[in-house]
Amino acid sequence: VSFGYQEVAPDEKTRRVGQVFSNVASRYDLMNDAMSGGLHRLWKDLFVRRVKPRMGEHILDMAGGTGDIAFRMAPSGAAITVADINPQMLEVGMERAAKRGIDGLVWTEANAETLQFPDRFFDAYTIAFGIRNVTDIPKALREAHRVLRRGGRFFVLEFSTTVWPGFGQAYDAYSHHLVPRLGKLLANDEDSYRYLIESIRRFPDMPKFEGMIRDAGFAQTKVEPLLGGLVAIHSGWKI
Ligand code: SAM
Repeated sequence: VSFGYQEVAPDEKTRRVGQVFSNVASRYDLMNDAMSGGLHRLWKDLFVRRVKPRMGEHILDMAGGTGDIAFRMAPSGAAITVADINPQMLEVGMERAAKRGIDGLVWTEANAETLQFPDRFFDAYTIAFGIRNVTDIPKALREAHRVLRRGGRFFVLEFSTTVWPGFGQAYDAYSHHLVPRLGKLLANDEDSYRYLIESIRRFPDMPKFEGMIRDAGFAQTKVEPLLGGLVAIHSGWKI
């Protein structure tokens, strides 16, 4: 398993990912705006439009962090569980929900690889900018499949690899030089942001990740690239 520029053992990756998000939790929302120029908001809006949450559905927002996806789904009237491995991220999320007057969300600590939920419980599973941080991704995909009912929908929003010529290089330069500096300036944490960039670089490209989703048992998989695949929405159905 890779972490930053080093190869590390799986347990060590999980521990360090924990450290990264504990370090950045309080600054996480500010950093997202700073690093994406606010674009993450549009990507998340589009993602939730694709999910089409409906009244009465049970939806699991895995790696839900500080609640960005859950807050966008809440007005639908769906019953939403926000699960994350990191209690500090959830803590910030609960405070934000209280400030915005959003109640009714269930917040729970969970590792995407080993879920405490019963088989076939949820109508939809979402994971936004979370799956690349998971140590054993195939295991997390199989768990997602297990907790979905038949006819359940699976959605991933994640950085990927843009196929637009030139744009990829420009983005690489931006991410390797500017992002760690922004991390230092705004969150006083250069290393965490170096890790985040490295984890994006190492994440499988669109065809490979779609294959992994199929291998976990999902059918009718689809990929929707944004900015040529800089970010992508992957989806599939449990049938
Ligand atoms: N979904 C939120 C959003 O889009 O703003 C948060 C994304 S944040 C970049 C990644 C989140 O993944 C962190 O909150 C982190 O704690 C969580 N995470 C990392 N590994 C995880 C795991 N194995 N199981 C559950 N959550 C995990």
